[in-house]
Amino acid sequence: MCQITIDPIAIIHTPFKEKFAIPRQPGLASEAKGHIVFRADYSSADFVRGLDQFSHIWLMFQFHQTAKPSHPPLVRPPRLGGNKKIGVFASRSTHRPNNLGMSVVKLDSVTLKDNAVSLLVSGVDLLDGTPIIDIKPYIPYSDAIPEAMAGYAQQAPRAHLHVQFEESAKSQLIEQKTKHTDLELLIRQVLAQDPRPAYHQQKTSDRVYGVSLYDLNIQWRVEDDQCIVTNISG
Ligand code: SAM
Repeated sequence: MCQITIDPIAIIHTPFKEKFAIPRQPGLASEAKGHIVFRADYSSADFVRGLDQFSHIWLMFQFHQTAKPSHPPLVRPPRLGGNKKIGVFASRSTHRPNNLGMSVVKLDSVTLKDNAVSLLVSGVDLLDGTPIIDIKPYIPYSDAIPEAMAGYAQQAPRAHLHVQFEESAKSQLIEQKTKHTDLELLIRQVLAQDPRPAYHQQKTSDRVYGVSLYDLNIQWRVEDDQCIVTNISG
């Protein structure tokens, strides 16, 4: 069988500095913004001519930070509680042959500045620095299939945690306002999804969790269905 060599065309910068707490699919956190910067050979206006007529685009990318070099045929989707196995090709797992991923995101703008092209997108589920290998317009008549059946993932996961901020965290949010205008909503949208591993979600615990968003460390704990943000530090 022939080998295929793929060169990334761009890189995406996102608020997500680690895999933990990244939404599990695009569109679950509309405030999750991405900035796509093209490689020099693709950074000309001609490559994106006409793209601004589309509201959404497909990003094809490489899961460049999947740890396992081997690819077993069965995976455990978090949607099934992490303990039921299904075939990798019946999943959107990051651990798959060729490490390729695909996400539909909202295209907010196409910018040409100093001969460099960049795209602003939102609703991303990608780690900062993810290599983008192709971009295509989303075409509703073909890509949206309202009657499609989606097995264990028919419905979007419920964003079931109510996110609150302790007083000190509220003050820290205000301090970040000029640098990160969207921070509060982003934190709310990300934490409401309950990023904890499934086996933690069953237990009551006063464990403090932390996640990196932008250049910040966000700490929170969960009490019943309340997610309480306790600290936001740089
Ligand atoms: N929408 C894509 C798809 O279906 O191919 C990705 C779905 S995958 C389940 C989304 C998860 O991939 C995120 O929650 C994050 O943990 C992980 N992820 C995102 N970017 C990654 C990267 N560059 N390398 C490894 N894992 C990544």
